[in-house]
Amino acid sequence: MNAFTYLQATNTDQAIGDYAAHPQASYLAGGTNLIDNIKLNILQPQRLIDVRRIGLDQIKPTAAGGLSIGASVTNSALAHDERVLNMYPVLSQAILAGASPQLRNVATTAGNLLQRTRCYYFRDAENASPCNKRHPGSGCAAIDGYNRIHAVLGTSDKCIATHPSDMDVALMALDAVVLTHSSTGDRSIPIADFYVAYGDDPAKENVLQPGELITAVELPPTKWFARSQYSKARDRASYEFALASAAVALDVDNGVIRDCRIALGGIATKPWRALAAEKVLRGQKPTDDLLRAAAEAELRPAVAQKHNAFKIEMAKRLLVSTVRKVSAIA
Ligand code: SF4
Repeated sequence: MNAFTYLQATNTDQAIGDYAAHPQASYLAGGTNLIDNIKLNILQPQRLIDVRRIGLDQIKPTAAGGLSIGASVTNSALAHDERVLNMYPVLSQAILAGASPQLRNVATTAGNLLQRTRCYYFRDAENASPCNKRHPGSGCAAIDGYNRIHAVLGTSDKCIATHPSDMDVALMALDAVVLTHSSTGDRSIPIADFYVAYGDDPAKENVLQPGELITAVELPPTKWFARSQYSKARDRASYEFALASAAVALDVDNGVIRDCRIALGGIATKPWRALAAEKVLRGQKPTDDLLRAAAEAELRPAVAQKHNAFKIEMAKRLLVSTVRKVSAIA
């Protein structure tokens, strides 16, 4: 673990100014993943800028009637917020399906968006494994190694690591928008555009520029997002990352799916919006055959590695069962 200086910012402009003044800086919020990665020597920031006291810890209604979630709102505060429970239950369920109560009490909204993969080789404490994400150009130990937890969608020949978050899968299904602040201005980034495909450079995971600070996540006022649910399959019942997960919101009228949002977790290199499955379901009655056809359509491009083929069927079944459960909600 390298030595670093610690600064406490009091407002967003001070935070981005402090970052700009030091090329090896990193923002610190809950630190649950960042400090882990510093200890594993994955990251070696020379300056940590604490952004927990810059006023980004509120959950507020938006002018449009949705919700604005401050970047440093903790996972616990978000999961138990009455408005989230009523308007976006899938988000509360996804958060509570992840980590532990102690971690959720400090982990933040922005930190969750920026979680790094749990790939064993990426997290190799000895730093001895080839890993294109950790050391660009060095290779990928997982492709020819043990890859049970790795991705089947969105992979490249450079990296097959999964995105580890539960919360971000729900945010993907809820059409969240990520708000940022930087020296060049403010941006509103739809979450569908926030994560990038690995391609040739798996070290690049999102569209944030150096020093760009996430300030909030906004959710739209879509009424039928109240009819939503999160399901997760994992090796043990708590404190475990997803092997596969599904976030589903449905607009059902007279037994017909008028509109839907589906996202999958644990199986892809980013929180995976299931556009192919949604297309199959829209305008249809959710029969068993239709649900299976939707799952088949979504997983058709999946590429299994030596040890993770089971994830493809697991994800299909989770998608089917979660859509079935949400369509049955009165
Ligand atoms: Fe590194 Fe990605 Fe390969 Fe894991 S899957 S070893 S993170 S390049």
